Amino acid sequence: MSILLSPPIILIVDDNFNNLDVLSETLLGSGLQVAIAIDGESAIEQASYCKPDLILLDVMMPGLDGFATCKILKGNAATCDIPIIFMTALSDVESKVKGLSMGAVDYITKPFQYEEVMARVRVHLELRFLTRQVLEQSLELQRINQELLKLNQELKRLANLDGLTGIANRRRFEEYLEQQWQQLIAKESQFKFSLILCDIDYFKHYNDYYGHQMGDDCLRKVAQAISSSLNHPTYLAARYGGEEFAIVLPDTSPDEAQHVAARIGLTVKQLQIEHDQSQVSSCVTLSMGISSQTSKYISHPQTLLTMADKALYLAKTHGRDTFCYLPVEAEK
Ligand code: GH3
Ligand code: MG
Ligand code: MG
Repeated sequence: MSILLSPPIILIVDDNFNNLDVLSETLLGSGLQVAIAIDGESAIEQASYCKPDLILLDVMMPGLDGFATCKILKGNAATCDIPIIFMTALSDVESKVKGLSMGAVDYITKPFQYEEVMARVRVHLELRFLTRQVLEQSLELQRINQELLKLNQELKRLANLDGLTGIANRRRFEEYLEQQWQQLIAKESQFKFSLILCDIDYFKHYNDYYGHQMGDDCLRKVAQAISSSLNHPTYLAARYGGEEFAIVLPDTSPDEAQHVAARIGLTVKQLQIEHDQSQVSSCVTLSMGISSQTSKYISHPQTLLTMADKALYLAKTHGRDTFCYLPVEAEK
């Protein structure tokens, strides 16, 4: 901050050379820097140029008087926060009041009592210094706050992602399922909600044969393929665990869900990830279980998950590389 690096600058504005001389001497003698102006116009110019820390401004001057000069300084963004002390005659109460009402911080009276002048100048310099410090600290706090907010958002984002595949994790899946479920329950429209569970076929063999790293690589590719086949703003694909993935399909009928499953199966097959150890195909395939609920009679999604899991089991027993569907109503 300039006030710390070099002595504060006081701009004295007075058309009386004698006043300028004596005031300058007093201030310079106290280790302050001084700039002078003999009228309002040059005061305005000087204030923008040398950025004083305080202005001592005479009220009575030819041309622009102290009030007019003050008004211009206060109206200019570059000079509006420089504290102004008016210099008025001892008896001129009206000028003192007017000066203060125009934004001056104080006044000193002529003839000058130099100790009083110095005391007031010091107080206002100190005030300005402290005000600036508070302002800088609050700006720094604001910056830190914004930084914290960003970090928090990033943490939140990471807490929702699966580290290996980069898609949503199980925590996010459960949260999203519940949230979308409740939203749809609250709506007037016809309730329909679907869920798909996907499981890579013979993945243990894949790992054993190609190694864990290739296994990880395969999981990443399959996860991206599943995500890319969704193409819908409210559908969410998540890694449910190991080599299993879950897809939340709010407001989706059984037919629509089966279409999505067919598309996912095809997209994963088109990756053509070689799988010599699979007993159903030469490349990596998925088995999928689909379940849908088409009425509001159950108000939580757990049964949907159970039925999708049963449907997945059916797909496995029906030979894999396929999908099966079971409605939630079948449980009634
Ligand atoms: P199925 O066709 O019946 O699903 O047989 P599967 O071999 O796919 O199923 P199983 O549950 O027996 O094996 C799953 C394997 O998935 C076991 C484990 O080695 C592998 N796996 C689970 N998580 C990871 C992982 O993060 N990385 C890798 N590379 N493998 C994983
Ligand atoms: Mg499995
Ligand atoms: Mg499997």
